[in-house]
Amino acid sequence: MLKPWNFEGASCWGIDTEMFFPEDRNYSPENVQAKKVCQSCIYIKECLTYALHYQVLGIWGGTSMMERQALRKKLNIIPRPITNERHTA
Ligand code: SF4
Repeated sequence: MLKPWNFEGASCWGIDTEMFFPEDRNYSPENVQAKKVCQSCIYIKECLTYALHYQVLGIWGGTSMMERQALRKKLNIIPRPITNERHTA
């Protein structure tokens, strides 16, 4: 599975990725801003697929952790744990 930090030309490349890891994981303005960046990304589907299958933190593929939890439940996906994950290249 292609990992999001290999998505050359992703919308989050070259921008401050702090917004993708808001303190308030679901409702902060940074969260909304990060989701807007994702909506313009050509890799949003691939990124979401990755984030659904791995226990990543923050906003990935335009979704928050809580939203991914709900999607996993609906799609019957059990995520794999990760270690030393990073957001983008
Ligand atoms: S969908 Fe969002 S988090 Fe994923 S690569 Fe694109 S901009 Fe980055």
